[in-house]
Amino acid sequence: MTTPFVMLVDDEAPFLETMTKRLEKRNLSVTTAISGQAALDTLNKNRNIDVVILDVKMPGMDGIETLKKIKSGYPLTEVIMLTAHATVESAIEGMKFGAFDYLMKPCDMEQLMSKVHEATKKKHEHEEKIRVARLKEVLTKYGM
Ligand SMILES: [Mg+2]
Repeated sequence: MTTPFVMLVDDEAPFLETMTKRLEKRNLSVTTAISGQAALDTLNKNRNIDVVILDVKMPGMDGIETLKKIKSGYPLTEVIMLTAHATVESAIEGMKFGAFDYLMKPCDMEQLMSKVHEATKKKHEHEEKIRVARLKEVLTKYGM
């Protein structure tokens, strides 16, 4: 099993710092972004990010807008929404726009880890399906 590469997106720097430490301790590769726009810029440079852990409530581009842009530009990247009680409806709405799942803040680390692993597995299976389909296409083209 490969190490999941995750990007944490949250407008609160102390939260990013604490969570990075916690996730690295559990053997994940972690990068961070302080805003929705920063998250999109980072995705553009790091095509191998498996899972985005995305805060719902952020100034400027909020979590839902960021989610929509991630899923349209990088459809295989899985997104887990993190939400407080006040914005739980938005997180649920996020599921309609392709979020893998959502968790309540403060999040239980074991629960988050299991979601990250599930989401990474889903992404890798998706990528494998695409590789196989492309290979079949090439073989058909050459009559094999
Ligand atoms: Mg926030």
